[in-house]
Amino acid sequence: MHTAPHRIMVVDGSTVSRKILTRILRDEIDNAEVVPVATGAEAIARLESEKFDLITTALLLPDMDGMDFSRGVRKSNRHHYTPVIVVSGDADDRLLREGFEAGVTDYFDKSQGYKAFGNFIRSFISRNSGMVGRVLFVEDSATVAAVTRKILENHGLQVEHCTSAEVALEKLDAMVPGANDGDFDLVITDFYLKDRLTGGDLLHAVRAKMHYSQQELPILVITGTDDYQTQVEVFHAGANDFVAKPIVEEVMMARVRALLLIKHQYNALKRQAETMRWVAATDSLTGVRSKRYLVDHGGEFIKAATHQPVWAMLIDIDNFKHVNDTLGHITGDHVLAALGEILNERFDDSMVARFGGEEFCALVPHVDMGDMLERAEGLRVEVESIQPAGVDVTISVGLASSEDHPGETLTRFIALADQALYYAKENGRNRVAICTPEGPMDSPFHGIPVGAESDILE
Ligand code: GH3
Ligand code: MG
Ligand code: MG
Ligand code: MG
Repeated sequence: MHTAPHRIMVVDGSTVSRKILTRILRDEIDNAEVVPVATGAEAIARLESEKFDLITTALLLPDMDGMDFSRGVRKSNRHHYTPVIVVSGDADDRLLREGFEAGVTDYFDKSQGYKAFGNFIRSFISRNSGMVGRVLFVEDSATVAAVTRKILENHGLQVEHCTSAEVALEKLDAMVPGANDGDFDLVITDFYLKDRLTGGDLLHAVRAKMHYSQQELPILVITGTDDYQTQVEVFHAGANDFVAKPIVEEVMMARVRALLLIKHQYNALKRQAETMRWVAATDSLTGVRSKRYLVDHGGEFIKAATHQPVWAMLIDIDNFKHVNDTLGHITGDHVLAALGEILNERFDDSMVARFGGEEFCALVPHVDMGDMLERAEGLRVEVESIQPAGVDVTISVGLASSEDHPGETLTRFIALADQALYYAKENGRNRVAICTPEGPMDSPFHGIPVGAESDILE
């Protein structure tokens, strides 16, 4: 994996510690080159001439304080942003007080044991080097673009490059927010573009016209200078951050990492909100829609032109109290869950909701009377024959159609189906009834053997 650190420096005065840490790191990280170093001075010298992706250090070095060593790393040009992990047996509060200021990235308490160090390192790497994302990169200079693109790709990012703001806007226009693939996680744009539109215009379009927030679509701007005027202009235009040319890899990647983190956190929050909406819309026991959902969305559903003619179907379990009384409430719950599953399967084109305790409602779109009666009868027969959750139960079904009762509100429409349901209960249960314009009556299929229904409709 190219996102894992390749070169790791282990700074520790103790030969034994150095050996153990080196072994663990080699075991835990694929293709890691681990370089053990005994003193702070040697470490600083090597950091000047070589490149490392991760540094661990003891708190006490033979020639130097570990915190001073960390400050030295931060001052060096090449390792300004390289993570420094302090590995120490005595977690003193000086580390807590000064560690952050001294540039320490994280701390591992050696008293937890070396096995825990392995886990710690793995989790540290997954938290810190997992750069995933799609970048839309706008840069009109082919040479600059090639170099920058290579850097981004080396860090594991997917890059789509274009040379003008016009093309970038087309690509952003085509992107469907929330559709995970094809979505850009970050825009990196040159501020000065030779074409008609500048990077500033692109920023303005993304923020003011497309209404992407800084969390939803972060933008990193590349500028020619970092003077005060330019900075003001860049932030005013709606950029999250900027880097000045010539681009220093560590500086750019530190910014990219921070912006991707913002974007990924935004995505996680959005996913959580969607889950919560789903939970509110779904009945947890039966897996069908909640009554709340039916009330909120059913009215629109029965009015939709493409749904005509639409039907209301009410389903009520017969003598369910008896099931609870004899077999217990928990078995009763299993029966309800099984019925919910059957309904979701047979009526996956419909809006199926749990209407009351043991009563379900389905709004069935675009189906004629013959088909609707057949589907309702099919459901009744299945419940009667399969013993949901091992229990012998039957259902009564009430139907009403928009053809017979045009222009009704959702409440009235369901009330008409309820009249039919009441009729079915009164006339012996385990049957389908329909609410015609003349009032409720048995389904013409009632008492007809399964499979012979079509003869009736001829
Ligand atoms: P019928 O509809 O055929 O007239 O008889 P019934 O016994 O089904 O009639 P009723 O509507 O009076 O009783 C419904 C019962 O459903 C009462 C209630 O205890 C039970 N019930 C409602 N919600 C739940 C539930 O979530 N779990 C279980 N186990 N039982 C429930
Ligand atoms: Mg009842
Ligand atoms: Mg009942
Ligand atoms: Mg009931």
